[in-house]
Amino acid sequence: MTNNEIITRGEQVMMSTYKRQPLALVRGKGVWVWDADGRRYLDLLGGIAVNSLGHDHPRLVAAITRQAQTLIHCSNLYWIQPQVELAQLLTVLAGLDRVFFSNSGAEANEGAIKLARKYAKMQGHNERSTIIATHRSFHGRTLATLAATGQEQLQKGFEPLPAGFTHVGFNDLDALASAITPATCGVMLEPVQGEGGIHCATPAYLRGVRELCSHHDLVLILDEIQCGLGRTGQMFAYQGYDIQPDIVTLAKGLGGGVPIGAMLASAQVAAAFKPGDHGSTFGGNPLACAAALAVLNTIQDDNLVERAGLLGEHVRQRLEPLSQQLQAVVEVRGLGLMMGIQLAVPGDQVVEACREQGVLINCTGGSVIRMLPPLIIERDELDQGLDVLIEVLRRI
Ligand SMILES: *Cc1c(COP(=O)(O)O)cnc(C)c1O
Repeated sequence: MTNNEIITRGEQVMMSTYKRQPLALVRGKGVWVWDADGRRYLDLLGGIAVNSLGHDHPRLVAAITRQAQTLIHCSNLYWIQPQVELAQLLTVLAGLDRVFFSNSGAEANEGAIKLARKYAKMQGHNERSTIIATHRSFHGRTLATLAATGQEQLQKGFEPLPAGFTHVGFNDLDALASAITPATCGVMLEPVQGEGGIHCATPAYLRGVRELCSHHDLVLILDEIQCGLGRTGQMFAYQGYDIQPDIVTLAKGLGGGVPIGAMLASAQVAAAFKPGDHGSTFGGNPLACAAALAVLNTIQDDNLVERAGLLGEHVRQRLEPLSQQLQAVVEVRGLGLMMGIQLAVPGDQVVEACREQGVLINCTGGSVIRMLPPLIIERDELDQGLDVLIEVLRRI
């Protein structure tokens, strides 16, 4: 089928929940993808930070193939070796003690919300159930994670949302301190806000949040679903801030494209979950865990974390001067290979112009151009994409 045939048929049977680009991707190799008409694109979005190893990575493909031939799924009624190995690796990398596996980011956050509430009860705080989150945050599309999300336009029409969430400004420590009440059980935030437009927490803020949480015995939940696993130049973004969360949630890049999410917690907090308190049919199944193990091992063996930091520095050096030179560019933000360009104009035209020249990027929040390329991208490939993007920005 051609792009047009797929789109025409799709419009008749798919719910229109997505504003899709007018093409169907059918194949990928490294940082390149091809559409149904045979056109090639440089993928600077990586499935929204999911394809951390790019496309058709030999180690990931081999691990999935091997596991598929061995055991795809059993059930969490049994012990699963790749799941145990993955949990071991994640706990060592994160400096946390216990793991729960889900299939998506929203589910990982749902688990984190439940665990924070249950931990408060275990500590004898029956009155504590509220989680403080931040404006512009994104935590998922399920009802509880949507309630946690600090973007009213995403919540409209879905009321009543679950109670127990309040929102304060991001990077505003005083506002957070003032929002703590006897009903508060935890704080939830992204060290680098992704969907909200690539906003980085300041070191003073994140350390201040950690101190407030420790002082009040509140659970600090860091949502690293987008910014975690090497993207910012640290395995976990919080490691660049020298703090430890009580809970961290992961998903997007973890399986390199195979759906898997994870919620990691300290032993103290994790102890609040008893058998029967939480679960998932598919969560952490052998296939997904084998994929995630291959992803993490490759990230480590190929030094992709350090590379992300260095490449991010390079991107910044090329883009930052634009905010002085071009009226349309307000600010360049980000860490490592998680970069955003705040425009003074709508970003859709930039996304479209780049696509027409064979480069895939995305726009979030209406006017922020976002780049989340595969971590395996080579510097000259990145430069090819930046050449196109910079030329497009110069012309608006
Ligand atoms: C994408 C995302 C989620 C939701 O993940 P899904 O897998 O789509 O449910 C939650 N938090 C952050 C920070 C995200 O970027």
